[in-house]
Amino acid sequence: SIPLGFFGGIGAASKQGILVKGGNYLEALNQVGVVVFDKTGTLTRGSFQVTEVHAADGFERQELLETAAYAELHSGHPIADSIREAFGRRLDGARIGDYEEVSGHGIRAELDGRAVLAGNAKLMRAEGIAFAEAADAGTVVHVAVDGRWAGRIVIADEIKEDSGEAIRGLKNLGIRKTVMLTGDAKSVGEEVGRRLGIDEVHAELLPENKVEEIEKLDRAKRPKEKILFVGDGINDTPVLARADIGAAMGGLGSDAAIEAADVVIMTDEPSKLVTAIGIARRTRRIVW
Ligand code: ADP
Ligand code: MG
Repeated sequence: SIPLGFFGGIGAASKQGILVKGGNYLEALNQVGVVVFDKTGTLTRGSFQVTEVHAADGFERQELLETAAYAELHSGHPIADSIREAFGRRLDGARIGDYEEVSGHGIRAELDGRAVLAGNAKLMRAEGIAFAEAADAGTVVHVAVDGRWAGRIVIADEIKEDSGEAIRGLKNLGIRKTVMLTGDAKSVGEEVGRRLGIDEVHAELLPENKVEEIEKLDRAKRPKEKILFVGDGINDTPVLARADIGAAMGGLGSDAAIEAADVVIMTDEPSKLVTAIGIARRTRRIVW
């Protein structure tokens, strides 16, 4: 039989906007030793704003922004939203032909019959585009047209106020290690990690690399220790499924992410993990 205390714990969690999909996960929350975070949309707001537009020789700033906005027309990534917003004008979908979103890289699209790329340095390298490297304070989206680099757009995301509290709270609970996994550039990932006091940062990861990192952590974990992963559900469904406990955050995540998750946090506050672990610990005292 299921101990009654678990129902109490699940009920207490749901009152805090935390849905725990079963008593076994409440028990697992008690044993969490390592907490792994996704960056974009989880620790940061995921609402990017364009801060710089640098056109390459032979391209106009406005032309660069327009090209990027069209490339991002069909993408639901927070990066795409910010670029379309910065362009600010209505987009004519008929100008876009073939379109492909390459996970962890960016976009390949056909605009007025020309081949357009919009994405990170990894995408440029994969496509053999020569581009200028720069030390930008933010996430960089490079744009190329017909094999030629057209320039770069810098966008900045903000760390959520609640994220600092989450990391401090986990440390206070005696969580052994905090880790951040991101598809974003190393410079951006490390800066966010440093500011939040996260123990380990792994950047420039594709969704499948995030799964590999979880597997490495899993092999290195201590006896009976559980690994918790929390993400916003964009590009991280495989990781949610692979971690001992997968937590989807924001309530706005995809249905697939909510389905794959063991714990769903209805708000966008990472500190809800501290609340969830606290409730799990109190529930254990009642059950045993
Ligand atoms: P995170 O792991 O931080 O949540 P994602 O896996 O969603 O990030 O994306 C990783 C990286 O891939 C982004 O930082 C960006 O460089 C690039 N990228 C992904 N989607 C897009 C897009 N629609 N447009 C441009 N770049 C993109
Ligand atoms: Mg993400």
